[in-house]
Amino acid sequence: MPRLRDSGRVLNPSTSLRDAGQGTGLSVPFSGRDLLDADDGPQTFTVKCHIKILAQPTLDLEDMIAEMQTIFDTADVRMEIASRQNLVGSDFTDLLDLNVGQCAGNTTTEQNDLFDERDDAGDDDLVIYFVRSTVPAFNGCGSHPDDQPGCVVAQGASLWTLAHEVGHVLDLPHISGEQDQNGNCVSPNFSRLMTGCSTNNITSTPTLSSGEIDTVQGSDYAQE
Ligand SMILES: [Zn+2]
Repeated sequence: MPRLRDSGRVLNPSTSLRDAGQGTGLSVPFSGRDLLDADDGPQTFTVKCHIKILAQPTLDLEDMIAEMQTIFDTADVRMEIASRQNLVGSDFTDLLDLNVGQCAGNTTTEQNDLFDERDDAGDDDLVIYFVRSTVPAFNGCGSHPDDQPGCVVAQGASLWTLAHEVGHVLDLPHISGEQDQNGNCVSPNFSRLMTGCSTNNITSTPTLSSGEIDTVQGSDYAQE
């Protein structure tokens, strides 16, 4: 069975930054000092992320980032946003609606072209590309070329797609036991980040299991 790295289509959850902030353990409203301390990070591990935007996501990117941090806090991992850049111009027009094939590990020519855009990202840094859509239409895709770690997030993604795709890059597969032999989601678990039955169906901050936490901490991209 192929290791699916997509997360379905449609969406519509929402959450407030205040809710997301409360999930981090910071007091609300934040003080500047709290933010500085949070940014320095008490966490043991760091994953450096570079964000490149071809198309702005529909939901607030800051909320997506806050949710991702809340989830990976449970794995003692700080998600450092090391750089942000807009990718505009004719070079990127053809990549706005990015062909990701089946998004099952192998990458397409279009993915290879896009993932070549790493600028000064380090070898173990993740580069996260926000596109208008994927073809076929998924919320995102965690497949990437060897030695170019990163993922793609579509404009219509859910609040948790970013964290889910980053989870794939950090070696997490979909959880087991959700689908029958035909791939139908007969017993989905939307309390888990790595549900294979679409991040659209998650309704509140999802969790990582202890085994998933071990995997993330052992990833090549989680730096101590
Ligand atoms: Zn997935």
